[in-house]
Amino acid sequence: MKKMNCFFCQKNIQGADYKDIKTLKRFISGLGKIRPRKRTGTCSSHQRKLAKAIKRARQLGLVPNVQK
Ligand SMILES: [Zn+2]
Repeated sequence: MKKMNCFFCQKNIQGADYKDIKTLKRFISGLGKIRPRKRTGTCSSHQRKLAKAIKRARQLGLVPNVQK
């Protein structure tokens, strides 16, 4: 049986909301990078939505940008 670790699937959330900073921050590392799927257990479809939401939130300055 496959273990379901995806945060969004578990909570039955359709996709990440760019306004939901609290949730987004769970998936952003200290450097402002999106945590890899392997680490968070997010499924591929939700990871895609999450990345989109984080990008949007970055544009709006809601979450820190990637520091290089
Ligand atoms: Zn999922």
